[in-house]
Amino acid sequence: MPRPVSRRVFLAGAASAFAVACSGDDAAPASTTTTSLPSSTTILNSTASTTTTRATVAAPPFDVAGNPFALGVASGEPLADSVVLWTRLAPDPADPNGGMPDQLFDVAYDISTDADFATIVSSGLDVADFDYAHSVHVEPGNLEPATTYFYRFRIGEYTSPTGRTRTLPAEGTDAFRFALTTCQDPQFGEYAAWADIAADDELDAVIFTGDYIYELPPLDFSPEGDGRRAWTSPPPSDLAGFRLRYAQVKQDPSLQAAHSTHPFFTMWDDHEITDNYWADGPGQFDSAGGDFESRRVAAYQAWWEHQPARAPAPTRSGHRLHRSVRVGDLAEFYLIDTRQFADEPPCRDTSVFDLGEGCAERDDPDRTLLGEEQVAWLTDGLRSSTARWTSLVSPSMFAGLDAREPGTDVAKYYLEAWDGYPAERERVAEALSAAANPIVLSGDYHASFVLDVGPGFGHDVICPEVMATAISSSPFATDFTAANPHVKYFVGDNGYTKCTVTADGWRADYRSVADIWDPASPLEDVASFEFPAR
Ligand code: FE
Ligand code: CA
Repeated sequence: MPRPVSRRVFLAGAASAFAVACSGDDAAPASTTTTSLPSSTTILNSTASTTTTRATVAAPPFDVAGNPFALGVASGEPLADSVVLWTRLAPDPADPNGGMPDQLFDVAYDISTDADFATIVSSGLDVADFDYAHSVHVEPGNLEPATTYFYRFRIGEYTSPTGRTRTLPAEGTDAFRFALTTCQDPQFGEYAAWADIAADDELDAVIFTGDYIYELPPLDFSPEGDGRRAWTSPPPSDLAGFRLRYAQVKQDPSLQAAHSTHPFFTMWDDHEITDNYWADGPGQFDSAGGDFESRRVAAYQAWWEHQPARAPAPTRSGHRLHRSVRVGDLAEFYLIDTRQFADEPPCRDTSVFDLGEGCAERDDPDRTLLGEEQVAWLTDGLRSSTARWTSLVSPSMFAGLDAREPGTDVAKYYLEAWDGYPAERERVAEALSAAANPIVLSGDYHASFVLDVGPGFGHDVICPEVMATAISSSPFATDFTAANPHVKYFVGDNGYTKCTVTADGWRADYRSVADIWDPASPLEDVASFEFPAR
């Protein structure tokens, strides 16, 4: 796989004692396996001591006008000994290049166990590269498990907001709490749900299943008609266009607060590129039009530039994003990519927006949603996981839904999701059945659901599916439960689902936004479910 040129900066212990290596990866010490590209950083301490107070690195020079941290900070992909720290230098977010010149910049970072940085665990430099929108992805190692850390970035006279993050446990089955979230189209409302998540000190992490941006045209749905939440750029078709969409949402203070308070596990769905796209083409409603392949490459890069992603930068050939996350002995999460490798949804000649009646093509046993490599990885993983809980995190509904018009007798399905790929769903369902305490988590639908997985496609109950509704995207309120007895709960609202996982049970609290156009709207628990472990 071709790798972008990277520059590594090593620190040998104190602020004055660092050396810069410009020639690529060879200078990395053998003990360092962090490979975030294009920029990558090695941490100073090889002794893994987190009790020694270390000096901070001096802030590198910065001669660009304006606060470079306008898009905030974020952390993500925590492990038991590491977490990815993110920022992007963008003093002018309305500019596709963030108002930054075509230069490399060093950025200093500090990690501490206290909010006022009295005890520095690590301090170092990372490189912000013009070719990647001056995004920074730092991967400090040697952190302690199940520990809260604070971090910040510095350049010139500027210090970023302080972020807080938390590593995963290395072992044991202590409770793990996270917010399950999806779909944050700003055009349909404010981010009160993110403010609520930011204020919840109990959370260990956030799982976002996709639709972080939307490619749709600018529209104003605000009750005041003031256009305050409308997209300020046209449907994106190139890198500049996608960067503008990310920069717009990332200026929201509530989203910034959520990112700076909890580590995120982020997956993409379709709208990060274009509605209902598949491996080689767009869906039936294609806002931007134009060459799909170059759009996909640009969209994946812009996604990476704006997420605390552990994976290296995407290449032209694609981006492996499916991965598993182990939380001690308590749970293993399998996050899957249901767009990048998918066959074209069936029956596009008879369906509208991929909602249509079943057809012969749908039942083709060779049709794939995940691609051969991913489905093999997933089914092997589900079968062999040794954690107490095994969770499939699917960007779209797994359990299936007969979306016939209420009162009619002709079944209809969302054919771009699992209902369009029933043979492959059988393979995954079989592996889920063999897993320890399986549970499916999902998003995308813009409604809150609890479903039984299995009866929707001809099986006994295999496990529950917890589907979070949209943070802000327009809810789908049509109630299909009459034709779907495996739907145990349905509300077309906005909000998210808080999950509390213990060895004994999996609790799901559905939190609902009272007024989607009030950025300070309260949320309330509208339903709670407890799924006992077997
Ligand atoms: Fe969505
Ligand atoms: Ca979606």
